[in-house]
Amino acid sequence: MKILCDHPGGNIIVYTIDYTNACIKVNLSQDLRGTANWWFYWNFRIVDCPVGRVHFSFQNRKVISPHGVATSTDGIEWTWTESNGFIDHMNFTYDFTGETVRYFSFCIPYQVSDYEQFILKLHDKPIKTGILTHSEKGRQVPLLTFGGGARAVILTARHHCCEATGSYALEGFIREVLAKPDEYSNYRFFVIPFVDIDGVEEGDQGKDRIPHDHNRDYGEDSIYAATRAIRELCQHLDVAAAIDFHSPWCWGGGDDFPHLHLGPAVGDDPDLQKHFSDRLHEISKTIPYDDTYISHYGSPYNKEGAPAFKNWFALKKGVPLALTVETPYSGALPRGYSKEDMRAFGACVARAMKITLD
Ligand SMILES: [Zn+2]
Repeated sequence: MKILCDHPGGNIIVYTIDYTNACIKVNLSQDLRGTANWWFYWNFRIVDCPVGRVHFSFQNRKVISPHGVATSTDGIEWTWTESNGFIDHMNFTYDFTGETVRYFSFCIPYQVSDYEQFILKLHDKPIKTGILTHSEKGRQVPLLTFGGGARAVILTARHHCCEATGSYALEGFIREVLAKPDEYSNYRFFVIPFVDIDGVEEGDQGKDRIPHDHNRDYGEDSIYAATRAIRELCQHLDVAAAIDFHSPWCWGGGDDFPHLHLGPAVGDDPDLQKHFSDRLHEISKTIPYDDTYISHYGSPYNKEGAPAFKNWFALKKGVPLALTVETPYSGALPRGYSKEDMRAFGACVARAMKITLD
């Protein structure tokens, strides 16, 4: 049995593998490299899988969700283990039945290869795929554009690289717009699906990246190429909305429900973001949304003046609908979120945006 993390998004530290009992026991933890604070993302695969039960014991706090862990045999199709093998938030067991490789992850991952497959499925749509810039490690940072309207809508994900659920919501948003081009004809969409693409592919946490993370890079000078390029891209655009897709804290309380971090109120209608929230509440059914857990600008987790994406768009570009959408990692449904659940939620974000702006 080998435990590996050299696949895109892989992240694990293995301390010991104990074969002395009938049930193999692995002591391991998430890798916090490059991160200032504790975080919870991990993602590994096993090759030369044994047959029988293996006990995985995480050594650095609680990192197994109430829906268990996400698992896959190909790194593409994932299911939640739910209560199967769940011991507590630091321990789970898995009964291997003869597979050659098996993936386990804190959440359903979303890598560049997932995005490429998504783009392939849009081959008959009027989209333009391009490159925003190159990352610090030389990767191409994708830029997707579509729509012929006069006003720009900026969509981003993975300012915090481990926050994969936001990417599925973003897919749903894009799919919705492309399915109904007439309804969205006032807008031209600019999508940056991987702001911290190096972290996405290398399996970093990304949140609280040292010296600051990509969503704290909208101060006087940006230190990351992607954020610099986003600012340059938008310099001469008339931006109607700037929506940044994230995932929240690991689980619990409001973090089990989709919620918004509002930007500062700017423009003629100080209630515009509230209108958006109300529309989202009316529309979103698969993953119910309400305003219970809204994080208002100026609250403890939404500090006034933080050099974040949404604040830059509101305060420097005067964009009234500039906010963060948080899609939970596994959520409060009876089952952990599926990819389609998250896409359905993203489609509702698009519709709520359109109704609000129109
Ligand atoms: Zn985030």
